[in-house]
Amino acid sequence: MPRILFAGLFHETHTFLSAPTRMSDFENVLALEGQAILDHSRGEISPSGGFIEVAEQLGWSILPSIYLAAMPSGTVKDDVLETFWKRLEYDLRAEYDAVYLILHGAMVCTSYPDVEGEVFRRVQASLKSQGRHVPVVCVLDLHGNFSDAMAEHSNILVAYRENPHTDAREAACRATRLLAKTLETGKLPRMVHLHLPMILPPRGTASSADPMKSVLAAARRMESEHPELLEVNVMPGFAYADVPDCGFDLSCATTGEPGQAAAWLRELGRLAWSLREKGNLTDPPIDEVMPKALQCKDGPIVIIEPSDNIGGGTPGDGTGVLSAFLKYKVHNSAVVINDPEVAAECHRHRAGDRFHVQLGGKTDRLHGATLALEVTLLRVSDGRFTLENPHSHMAAISGRHIHMGLCATLECHGVTIIVTTLKTPPMDLGQLRSQGVTPEKLYMVGVKAAVAHRAAYDPIAKHSFYVDTPGLGSSNLRNFSYKHVRHPVFPLDPFEHDPL
Ligand SMILES: [Zn+2]
Repeated sequence: MPRILFAGLFHETHTFLSAPTRMSDFENVLALEGQAILDHSRGEISPSGGFIEVAEQLGWSILPSIYLAAMPSGTVKDDVLETFWKRLEYDLRAEYDAVYLILHGAMVCTSYPDVEGEVFRRVQASLKSQGRHVPVVCVLDLHGNFSDAMAEHSNILVAYRENPHTDAREAACRATRLLAKTLETGKLPRMVHLHLPMILPPRGTASSADPMKSVLAAARRMESEHPELLEVNVMPGFAYADVPDCGFDLSCATTGEPGQAAAWLRELGRLAWSLREKGNLTDPPIDEVMPKALQCKDGPIVIIEPSDNIGGGTPGDGTGVLSAFLKYKVHNSAVVINDPEVAAECHRHRAGDRFHVQLGGKTDRLHGATLALEVTLLRVSDGRFTLENPHSHMAAISGRHIHMGLCATLECHGVTIIVTTLKTPPMDLGQLRSQGVTPEKLYMVGVKAAVAHRAAYDPIAKHSFYVDTPGLGSSNLRNFSYKHVRHPVFPLDPFEHDPL
């Protein structure tokens, strides 16, 4: 009976944010070791739940090591990687037949711009020092920035195919089945990859639109035409990780000749490159959009604010949309603002109390001004809710039970404001409903996201508008001073020659 060493380290790092991400940010979401990982993940709708289910169906035994996950945010302190590694390094000396990891792909630590590459490098160094050859398998977010080290030191990497990530669990199941095949045949695949000099804002990485839609379809055709390609990954990367490997990557796990696989990836690369302009989407200023949006009679009208895209790492306290809702007097509207200070203050009041708050815009000077508001407290809560949609993008991070910390629901000039203590991306309608707001009945709702909200909000939206507001999730990549990406790169630099 195969025994699989299992660990996870999951973070999407926005390196332009000034606040670092600490171990405590992981403890707020997921920080588990040993048996506790299995107890937490068994039956879950997350990738770890998927892995465990398939592994147990196959009769494997699992050696759970360590699992750390946090919400997207700024550069991660080195001690998080070292805590992870200390436990995994110890477990790598046990008996097992394969290593299965759940990583993100766009994690950056203070001293390591390519955390995933570093993890694989260390794992292989440990295996080599013990004279062992076992498959190293991993499931990744398609927003990972792929590196040479990741390809060189692993055997099967499997990325999600959907954005919103409705298939994160399925990707983990697929990786598990590919591992089963590898253990059965004894043929160890290797990874081949192709880096494209293009960076797309998260807005341009939806799987329902080009370039992703066409490139994903071509990847599926390639797999069916060439059975030696076990998995072809299309990873548009994460634009806000300013690291040398930032960009659009294609990769595959192959049991065939690597040179041939590379040639097939180049074909796919030419297709992606030809569609690059379609992924470079920018948004109009909110003051241009609001008068148009307000002409719509029926709601919900969804106002999408990529500049404060929580799922992309921004603070969630941007006040751009809230200011506009107040300025344009949008009644029966709602926004969520992360502000632990105000949430705590509200918990010292009673429902019905009216008082002044200084709300939002506190993490930095880049996400709009702090607003001085007179508000009425509607209710307070412990901020816990269960995902309504089991395929929610959020399930990829920590499973179905979500904790927003202490929350409060406020009213101000017809605008309902939900204040959270832990920033929570708008990926599931349970978030609003749990705080006493019925999303379907709203006239207008502000959403701090780029794409990941769509599985939740598209089904109820009568109209939706993207807007540009102040913030570090802006779709206009020229607003960022990149220091570490490789040049030339689209859309920052001109290209005289086709790079492929
Ligand atoms: Zn992602």
